Amino acid sequence: MARSTATQRRLPEVPEVPPLDDDSVAALGLVESQEGYIGPTGRPMPRFPEPPQLSRHGPAKVIAMCNQKGGVGKTTSTINLGASIAEYGRRVLLVDFDPQGALSVGLGVNAHELDLTVYNLLMQRDISVNEVLQKTNVSGMDLMPSNIDLSAAEIQLVNEVAREQTLLRVLGPLLDEYDIVIIDCQPSLGLLTVNALTAAHSVIVPLECEFFALRGLALLTDIMAKVRERLNSHLYLEGILATMYDSRTVHGREVLERVVEAFGDGVFHTVIGRTVRFPETTVAGEPITTYAPSSTGAVGYRQLAKEVLARCHVE
Ligand code: ADP
Ligand code: MG
Repeated sequence: MARSTATQRRLPEVPEVPPLDDDSVAALGLVESQEGYIGPTGRPMPRFPEPPQLSRHGPAKVIAMCNQKGGVGKTTSTINLGASIAEYGRRVLLVDFDPQGALSVGLGVNAHELDLTVYNLLMQRDISVNEVLQKTNVSGMDLMPSNIDLSAAEIQLVNEVAREQTLLRVLGPLLDEYDIVIIDCQPSLGLLTVNALTAAHSVIVPLECEFFALRGLALLTDIMAKVRERLNSHLYLEGILATMYDSRTVHGREVLERVVEAFGDGVFHTVIGRTVRFPETTVAGEPITTYAPSSTGAVGYRQLAKEVLARCHVE
């Protein structure tokens, strides 16, 4: 008997999961056990498939990289997760939404010399995105830069109608051209961050593995709940990303344990280790994936890219 067309329809091929080499096992902090590899979070590390090729681009998923604490790895994660996703053939847009402009600087853009930035897109309707967007050295990855001008937006937006939806309005027309948009938030929970949360589908929260890491997270989840209630009902937590992890210290391991206790499967399996190569990349103005392609940091962010893409809807 003929099978129905529904069952005959070809499903996308499941990409092969190549075996892990010893270097990757070490870089990802995996420990072999009877049930397979145990990751640094103490849970069995799933094998994430190689992201399949895309036949077309868009509509983009928008991720806000958010934590009101500074120095936890938001900008580093935006650059390197973005670059790793672009390596997998996805079109990526990084939005610098911090007046410090660290994302722009980290990608080699001299933000202070820019005439037009995301600020102009937010405040002026006669500016086109093409005047603002910059290509980066990573193929397939573009940047919406910012500089100190953006600090004025926080005050000026207060008097605007639909002030929380301003970034959403700017990004809307771009979504069909990209697969992933990552918004690098500033270290505060003010109006700019609320704009980012309103424009996003999901949130990644980088968390430095140190004693006070969990403090303040309640405030962030509170703001997320309010945004969900009033502005963006679909917003969800993509994951908590442990950064600057040092497996050699009892302290680091304890903090990670506490984070997993508190957030369970909300914590990414991938953990980013502490390495001086990251500060070096800022000076170099490029992602670690091109600056030191086989470093533990690069391996970590590529694994994170696979973990994030494995959660995205794949056609
Ligand atoms: P945020 O954007 O949250 O303020 P950054 O990404 O700018 O944080 O990181 C703060 C500092 O820590 C930077 O100097 C960066 O180079 C460094 N850094 C980030 N991630 C790591 C890491 N995994 N190991 C060591 N240093 C890191
Ligand atoms: Mg930053």
